[in-house]
Amino acid sequence: MYGITPVKTTRCIDCDGEGTLETERACPDPIRGGELVGVVEECWYCDGTGEITDYYAEEDDLDG
Ligand SMILES: [Zn+2]
Repeated sequence: MYGITPVKTTRCIDCDGEGTLETERACPDPIRGGELVGVVEECWYCDGTGEITDYYAEEDDLDG
């Protein structure tokens, strides 16, 4: 029967299921010349959920 889309979720490979990523961002500072500041951002890959949702179509029953 079609119409139902099976869904499976897998742990995000980018943030390892954390939902957030720690990254460094350049912070310009005219006095000290700037520095890298560690910031925690929402994972762009899983949208902060820590899981990747895969949609896959049901396969036809191959019968010849
Ligand atoms: Zn992620």
